[in-house]
Amino acid sequence: MDSSDNGIRLQLFQSLMDRSAEGILFVDPENRIRYWNRAAEVLFELGAEEFSSNDAVRCCALPTPDELGFLRSGGAKKILGSVKNERRASAAGYLDRVIESIEIDGQPWLMVRLKSPLLRIPTESELYQQARTDHLSSLMNRRAFQIILEENLHRQLALAIIDVDFFKHINDRHGHEAGDRAIQWLADRLRESFPDAVCIARLGGDEFGVVLDVSDRDRIESRFKELCESVRTDPTSSKPAGISISIGVAIASSPGVSARELLSKSDRAMYQSKNEGRNRSTSVDV
Ligand code: GH3
Ligand code: MG
Repeated sequence: MDSSDNGIRLQLFQSLMDRSAEGILFVDPENRIRYWNRAAEVLFELGAEEFSSNDAVRCCALPTPDELGFLRSGGAKKILGSVKNERRASAAGYLDRVIESIEIDGQPWLMVRLKSPLLRIPTESELYQQARTDHLSSLMNRRAFQIILEENLHRQLALAIIDVDFFKHINDRHGHEAGDRAIQWLADRLRESFPDAVCIARLGGDEFGVVLDVSDRDRIESRFKELCESVRTDPTSSKPAGISISIGVAIASSPGVSARELLSKSDRAMYQSKNEGRNRSTSVDV
C-alpha cells in the first residue's frame, strides 16, 4: 500500500462515517479524539475546529477511567449505556452510548458511537405502547379505553366518568405546570384506589374514566364517594393541595350493556353531580 492508497482509504472512511446517523468518534491509545463524523458535531452543535477539545464532548463521549481500564485490559469488548448531554440538555437530555475497543495498526483504539434516544426509531412494541398511552398521566388514552371497554362488554361492568371541578382555576391561579401536576397526582390516586379496575384512562383534559367489574354492586357507589373525599386533601404533601372532583357512574344491571349506553349514562350522571354542587358522585343503573 503506498501513500496515495492511504489517502483514498482515509477519504472513503470519512465519507462512510459522514453518512451515518450515529455520532461516531475514534479515540487513540493516548485518549485523544482523533476522528469523528458530522453527526457527532450535530449532536453537540459544534464545528470541527472546537469539537475534539470541547469539555462537554470529552466528558460525555470519552470513557470514564473505570470504563477505560476495563476496555484496555481486554476484559470487555463493548460498553453500553447512556450519558447526560450537558451541552444540549434541553434538546437531547441523554445520549445512548456504545464504546468498543478496536485494534488499529496493532494499537488499542476505541470506537465511541452516540445517538440521541429522541432520534432512535421506536420498536414496534414501543410504538404500540405510545399509541395507547396518555403521555402526561401514563394512563391509557381514550382510544385504548374504548377498545378495552368494547372487549369487556360480555361482563357486567360499571363505568365512571371523573371530571375535576374548576380545573381552569388551578391553571389560572397556579400555572399550567401546576395543572399538569394535579392531573398526574389524580392519576396516581386512581391507580391506588382501583388496583382491580378493568381499565383506567385519561379521556382528555381533566376527564378520566374507570371501568370496574360489578362483582360487589353495593361497594361500587361507596368506592367512588370515598374517592371524592380522599382527593380533597393530599396527606403526603401540600403540593398540589387536594382537588374536588365530580363523578358519574353507570352500573350495568346485567352483562352485555352497550358501550354507548354506559358512556352516555355515566356522562349524564357526571353532569348531574356538577349541577348539584360538584364534589360528589352520582350513580345510575342501566
Ligand atoms: P368544571 O367544574 O365545570 O369541570 O370546570 P373546569 O374549569 O374544570 O372546566 P373544564 O372541565 O371544561 O375545563 C378543563 C380545562 O382543562 C380546560 C383546559 O384549559 C384545561 N386542560 C386541558 N388539558 C390540560 C392539560 O393537559 N394540562 C393542563 N394544565 N390543563 C389542561
Ligand atoms: Mg373540569
